[in-house]
Amino acid sequence: MKAARTKTPRRPKKPTNPTLKDPVGVYCRVRPLSRADQECCIEVINETTVQIHPPEGYRVFRNGEYRETQYSFKEVFGTLGVQKELFDVVAKPLVEDLIRGKNGLLFTYGVTGSGKTHTMTGSPGDGGLLPRCLDMIFNSIGPFQAKRFVFKLDDKNGVDVQSEVDALLERQRRDALPVPKTPSGKRHLDPEFADMINVQEHCKVEEVDEDNVYSVFVSYIEIYNNYIYDLLEEAPFEPIKPKPPQSKMLREDQNHNMYVTGCTEVEVKSTEEAFEVFWRGQKKRRIANTQLNRESSRSHSVFIIKLAQAPLDADGDNVLQEKEQITLSQLSLVDLAGSERTNRTKAEGNRLREAGNINQSLMTLRTCIEVLRENQLYGTNKMVPYRDSKLTHLFKNYFDGEGKVRMIVCVNPKAEDYEESLQVMRFAEMTQEVEVARPVDRPLCGLTPGRRFRNQAFREELARKLEMRGGPLGGETEEQSVAEMLLQNFPPLPSCELLDINDDQTLPKLIEALEQRQKMRQMLSEEFAKNVLAFKTMLQEFDSSVVSKEHYIQGKLSEKEKIIAGQRTELERLEKKIKTLEYKIDILEKTATIYEEDKRNLQQELESKSQKLQRQASDKRRLEARLQGMVAETTMKWEKECERRVAAKQLEMQNKLWVKDEKLKQLKAIVTEPKEKPERPSRERDREKAVQRSLSPPPVPSSSPFAQGGHSQRLASPPQGPRRSNSCSSISVASCVLEWEQKTPSHKQSTSYARTKQEPEPSRGCNSSHRRRGMCWTGVLEVPRHREELEIEEDHCCRNAPPVRLRHRRSRSAGERWVDHKPPSNVPTETVLQPHVPHAITVATASEKALAKCDKYMLTHQELASDGEIETKLIKGDVFKTRGGGQAVQFTDIETLKQESPTGRKRRSSPSQPDPLGEAADSEWTDVETRCSVAVEMRAGSALGPGYEHHAQPKRRKP
Ligand code: ADP
Ligand code: MG
Repeated sequence: MKAARTKTPRRPKKPTNPTLKDPVGVYCRVRPLSRADQECCIEVINETTVQIHPPEGYRVFRNGEYRETQYSFKEVFGTLGVQKELFDVVAKPLVEDLIRGKNGLLFTYGVTGSGKTHTMTGSPGDGGLLPRCLDMIFNSIGPFQAKRFVFKLDDKNGVDVQSEVDALLERQRRDALPVPKTPSGKRHLDPEFADMINVQEHCKVEEVDEDNVYSVFVSYIEIYNNYIYDLLEEAPFEPIKPKPPQSKMLREDQNHNMYVTGCTEVEVKSTEEAFEVFWRGQKKRRIANTQLNRESSRSHSVFIIKLAQAPLDADGDNVLQEKEQITLSQLSLVDLAGSERTNRTKAEGNRLREAGNINQSLMTLRTCIEVLRENQLYGTNKMVPYRDSKLTHLFKNYFDGEGKVRMIVCVNPKAEDYEESLQVMRFAEMTQEVEVARPVDRPLCGLTPGRRFRNQAFREELARKLEMRGGPLGGETEEQSVAEMLLQNFPPLPSCELLDINDDQTLPKLIEALEQRQKMRQMLSEEFAKNVLAFKTMLQEFDSSVVSKEHYIQGKLSEKEKIIAGQRTELERLEKKIKTLEYKIDILEKTATIYEEDKRNLQQELESKSQKLQRQASDKRRLEARLQGMVAETTMKWEKECERRVAAKQLEMQNKLWVKDEKLKQLKAIVTEPKEKPERPSRERDREKAVQRSLSPPPVPSSSPFAQGGHSQRLASPPQGPRRSNSCSSISVASCVLEWEQKTPSHKQSTSYARTKQEPEPSRGCNSSHRRRGMCWTGVLEVPRHREELEIEEDHCCRNAPPVRLRHRRSRSAGERWVDHKPPSNVPTETVLQPHVPHAITVATASEKALAKCDKYMLTHQELASDGEIETKLIKGDVFKTRGGGQAVQFTDIETLKQESPTGRKRRSSPSQPDPLGEAADSEWTDVETRCSVAVEMRAGSALGPGYEHHAQPKRRKP
């Protein structure tokens, strides 16, 4: 039956020394040939090597050479080797280990007839390893053995201890049972094996712990056909049909040792007793083999010796009742089945199957050894198939690192066994490479050593003292010998038979003997009385000695108690110290926690502050950038402003210069002109020429666009007298200038009156209001063509307009033609809304030709306003035919067009800079539609009059 391959869950193992490992010790024993004429194929070369060569029939030649193989072992025992030699080398160390509490395994391996059983069991007069092991064990522990039943094995491979009194009670209980008593003593031994244990050599372990007590238990099992049988089991006797033996199960104990459940374990007290138990098992095995038609060589037999040991108490009198202190070690002695292959034996049917199983067990053993070797050599972690057979499973612990393993390879050098021997050698060689961890020494009991010896010495001392006091103990032996002598010399009674009547010898002899007997009786009774007396005295003395011992013990006890009390106070002091220290630790831990908390908080604060700093720095950078931008912008603006102002000033100065020049010229002309000149037309022509001159701009530097418009200032000076224009249809520029100079002493004044006379003060006020409105954009695209319209508007806001305007009430718009005089110096304003005059002749310079064709004149004049913007003025007038055939222009109207900067608007919309014109803030100019609607409203509702303003927006609005 094949065991299921399930992995045992890993559990903590018994302490082993992982660094120290011992290889499996493999020894070889070559048995002598049975007959001298047998062919031999194995030779012992030296103490460690054997050589095997093929016998005649098997000889194989390779490369023309005769092949022979050598195998090395730890030690080789030749044909002359004796059992003792083998035992000393192989088994003795295992026994020593056993007594020191370590486990061991010893097995014999080889083909049938190779001497396995001979090696293990031995033969009469030449005991094998097993009896020798037993002998050595009992020789070593003999005086220190525990009383029977002090140690008790349980069912689970454990051991317990009980007091000697309990053990005695159990002994009595068992003796009362009707079970045949275990025979002890050599005289009861079966003569068949009596010689086997007659070991002459008194072999023993030198250093046995005398403060321990020991007990030996033996069990004997057989593994046959992969079933385990208990060879010591007491089966009820059934003579008619004996029951076949029951197989046993394998289990693992808490120390990971495998054990056979319910296996009989017999406590033995001597070598003879132990061997007797073994022999009993052997007998049973033989009977079973016969009854069940088995072949003994096909089974494995395992003899297990268990040694329990426990320390004595402090006085060295009794076993310490502590289970933990008990050590249980075991030595397994295994006689394996023959290793030969099936075909070698003539097995049939059941036997073949059995043989197969046997081989299977040995095959598994081989595989386990192979895997172990591989794992150890190559560091692999293959699972070792211990569970595949009962045999390997039982010894799993030994190979897994629990104790010493030794193997004796038995070989028969006969030629017939050559092939099998070769197999055996190979397996043996492989096994040698497997290493098993060395078990650590068991810890010693903490009690003082030499307890048993001290106790014994005390007893001896007591006896000696009693003897010295002349006590009965010493005399007793003497008296005993006297009594014994008396008893031995006790006169026998002579024959009391009277043979005839005259017999006079018999009676006197009888009387004499009886008298002698009487005397001796008296002597004996005297002796008895003496002995009784002596015993009584001895008892009394013993009592007194016990009392004194008691006193002594009590004194010692009180001493010890004092010591204990001292130690207790010391303990208390230390405990207090511990408490104080714990308290301190607690406080320190708390403080540490607080500091850590503080640290965390501070770190957080630091982080937030650094973040804030970073934010501030970035804000600062942004602000700087903005300020730089603003500074650059302002600088640019002011530069532009300055340029503009410089240009305006230049223009103004040039204008002044020019006006002065003109005045001087005119004055010169007046002075040089003859007083009374009838040719008025010629003078008028001169005037017209002057007009023409005045209309053509003087050369100005082209770099200043405003300077080019300087001439318009002169034109903008309105003719002073509309009264004169009433009588005279033409107007002379010179008279205009004169009149203007009289009225306005300064230029500033002249600019403020840069309007026609028809535009009086109130209208100027109205105009200022228009200007304010004009900030909001007035979008009149065309110069009004219908005079009536203008006049209606004039009525609204220019009530004080002079009557000269009434002269032109007649609508002439349909036939009006305009001269649109646009000096090339004008700067294109590029505003959305531009003045547009239909039917106009556009000229760059005033020409007589164009004037002759038209009846209206308009000059577009540009100058720089006070706010720095270009101000465009449309100076309008009527063209008259002079009597001399020339043309004269009477200025009637000035229209001012203004534009405004979007940046200015933006500035006004800022709350920090309130709008200087107030109303502008009310309006938002976002689209053309809004602007136009306002413009229409302006046109309809405001008194634009003859000189209303255009406040042009720039084409592109800046954001
Ligand atoms: P196995 O157990 O291996 O089958 P045995 O131990 O039964 O073999 O040995 C078979 C026979 O050989 C026995 O009669 C035994 O006495 C004898 N024998 C074996 N080994 C020796 C030896 N070393 N010296 C003398 N006789 C031996
Ligand atoms: Mg055998």
